[in-house]
Amino acid sequence: MIITLEPNAASGDVAIVIQRAERFPGVSVQKHEFRGASTVITEIHLIGSTAQVPTHAFESLPGVRKVVRVSMKYRLIGRHHPGEETAGFSYHGVNFDEQRVLLFAGLCAVDTPEHTREMMAALKAAGLTTTRMGAYKPRTSPYDFQGLGKACLPWLFELAGEHGIQVIAMEVTDARHLDEIRAALDAASHPTGVMLQIGTRNTQNFELLKHVGQQQEFPVLFKRGMGITLEESLNACEYIASEGNRNIVFCLRGVKTHLGEPHRNLVDFAHVPVVRRQTRLPVCVDPSHSVGRMDLAPDGLPDIFHVVGQGVIAGASMVLIDFHPRPEAALCDGPQALSLARLPHLVEYIAKVRRAFEAVTQKAT
Ligand code: PEP
Ligand code: MN
Repeated sequence: MIITLEPNAASGDVAIVIQRAERFPGVSVQKHEFRGASTVITEIHLIGSTAQVPTHAFESLPGVRKVVRVSMKYRLIGRHHPGEETAGFSYHGVNFDEQRVLLFAGLCAVDTPEHTREMMAALKAAGLTTTRMGAYKPRTSPYDFQGLGKACLPWLFELAGEHGIQVIAMEVTDARHLDEIRAALDAASHPTGVMLQIGTRNTQNFELLKHVGQQQEFPVLFKRGMGITLEESLNACEYIASEGNRNIVFCLRGVKTHLGEPHRNLVDFAHVPVVRRQTRLPVCVDPSHSVGRMDLAPDGLPDIFHVVGQGVIAGASMVLIDFHPRPEAALCDGPQALSLARLPHLVEYIAKVRRAFEAVTQKAT
């Protein structure tokens, strides 16, 4: 059973609900707070033998908004009130919610300081303060470039600070990567923030999920598994929340099947509204790892743009996308990287599609 209090509930009201819940035998009581940009939603979760607990025992208490019995698996990330806004969260000056689309354009893999500087200068010129930068790359072959690892973090973070980048999405594949990122940010006096990315190859690495869940310093960008069901991916994502970290964005990135050819993966952005309905997490789409190539449609737009459009028109509020100043020289995923000249076009394209989304859903900005 979940008892949801009114936004920004008074601590006295919360305490009364907890006291009453604790009177029921065989029930353990947990308090959860969801901190959005402007409101804090408090939920009291009753776990155990709740069948005998009547909902009216709480419905009349002051400050209680709703009492629901939940049978659903995604207790923390799940959406229990259909019409409710996705509260989202705020990190390092950036709001992650459904009120806007955040564009995380950047290098799939950090290679040289010069390329990184060029990338960041292009982001700054386009008015962007968020990026993706891979330092730890999980590659299919052990002989492929594995990323520069912690060696690049000092100059990467310094360049980010110089270019006004507030948040970098960066994949981690091992718990010790968090320590390396934390140490490098501390040494540089936190010129930027980092969003930890869980890649599709680690969607069910439960120990890693628990580790990123046990800290609340960094938010998490969680990618769906490429070869498992959406339900399995959502259950895996719940691990992060269940360990205490609620600052999560769920990312769709295509699924592995030859039926998607000639694209690298079968684009799964039809699941954007599904994830928005089943969870209260902001949803990200990754068109680069879905499409995997730079072909142009007859209208002149890359397939990648069209797929961004599919995600944004369906309500995605974040786009993660590979760019490179010289895609032919990229050490990882060059064939899917967009050149910097396309960045302002993409910004404009996303703004137009987002306006269409707002018009068709009559959603106020
Ligand atoms: C990436 O974003 O760099 C990446 C490796 O993506 P995925 O885990 O979706 O393959
Ligand atoms: Mn990649």
